[in-house]
Amino acid sequence: MNEKKSAAPRVAIVGGGYGGVAVAIELNRLGLKHAATLFDARPVHQKLTQWHKLARGRMAERYEVPFTDLSRRFHFDFKREHIDIETLLKSGAESLGSPFDFVVIAQGSQSPSPPNGVIDLDSLRDKIAVQNAFRIVRHKNIFVVGGGPTGVQFAFEFAERQNRVTLIEARDRLLPSFDNALSEIALREAASSQIDVRLGSEFLAFQEGVLRLREGAIVREERADMVLFVPGVRSTPSFVCDVHGRIEGIAHKNFYAVGDNSYFSGPGLNSKSGQAAVRKGQHVARAIRAAVEGKEIPPYTYAEIGYFVSLGSKEAVGYLLSQKTTFSGRAALAMKEVVEQQYNLFLRGFNVYL
Ligand SMILES: Cc1cc2nc3c(=O)[nH]c(=O)nc-3n(C[C@H](O)[C@H](O)[C@H](O)COP(=O)(O)OP(=O)(O)OC[C@H]3O[C@@H](n4cnc5c(N)ncnc54)[C@H](O)[C@@H]3O)c2cc1C
Repeated sequence: MNEKKSAAPRVAIVGGGYGGVAVAIELNRLGLKHAATLFDARPVHQKLTQWHKLARGRMAERYEVPFTDLSRRFHFDFKREHIDIETLLKSGAESLGSPFDFVVIAQGSQSPSPPNGVIDLDSLRDKIAVQNAFRIVRHKNIFVVGGGPTGVQFAFEFAERQNRVTLIEARDRLLPSFDNALSEIALREAASSQIDVRLGSEFLAFQEGVLRLREGAIVREERADMVLFVPGVRSTPSFVCDVHGRIEGIAHKNFYAVGDNSYFSGPGLNSKSGQAAVRKGQHVARAIRAAVEGKEIPPYTYAEIGYFVSLGSKEAVGYLLSQKTTFSGRAALAMKEVVEQQYNLFLRGFNVYL
């Protein structure tokens, strides 16, 4: 690690999702042009919050932006490279091949190891054959494993395209990380969309078109044409950080983390969400500039504005400001679309997150 501070710091960003890209955009906005080098194993930035729309028949490209476009627009270097995070932590910034003053780790979440035969989010992100299968699937018997936002959004999209959909959730409600009011609305809408929701149901295996589930003391077998396995994601490694995103408990001084793989101290939002990732990314860029200039900035305190989950192309459910302020129907869908459009403007260079 180069300890000498200069007016133009060299910043390595590992991972170009919502968090990593926000760091690069904010550094540019702060006048630190060409300060950042962004490393990503993929050639494109993926707007994952819209990924369920692939099951609506949409092409993945619609929700992807080539890193080469972003690097031109926001004046950073892009290197398509998978970075071994363990080596980076062990050997420091030198292992990235150039001297960097700051390193920001933003590798996001990964799907859990998928059981045989199922489709997980990582394969949908990377395999064109899987993306194509999602776009055209109709009149099939589809099981979605996981009743969080990802599973719920995919289930409604599949149901809208005349598939028979069963949604499996091990807990006793849908959207278990939110207030129960959201679960009740989602359950009601699922019933009217003919989605068979099985609460308290545990996926066991899928082999030769037969799915095994445990429901209470009973093990059931059912036929399925496709199983989407989205029971949640994990971030390994993930990092505990100070109020500015600087990683604690490691030997390297100027290592930061943002996005799903980070937990900032203090009252700011730490959810695994695009919203938190962007705000943490912006904060870390400001913290880096402040460190270079020897200044202090206020800690990260971003409070959640709301969260919306779409229930197909015509409905959504969610909340604004507090989980007790629940919205549903077209109003909620409109709010969700506003959030997505805001992010699109951000990627085009508008300063929409103040
Ligand atoms: C279907 C779906 C719907 C969602 N809806 C919402 C929503 O409505 N609202 C919301 O706020 N959030 C939503 N989320 C969650 C949101 O997408 C994530 O919280 C967000 O993507 C996290 O951003 P990130 O930058 O941490 O990681 P990611 O966006 O996952 O980006 C990580 C990047 O790092 C790269 N990478 C990983 N490992 C390496 C490595 N070793 N070397 C180099 N590159 C690497 C990856 O290629 C990727 O580009 C949704 C997620 C899904 C799947």
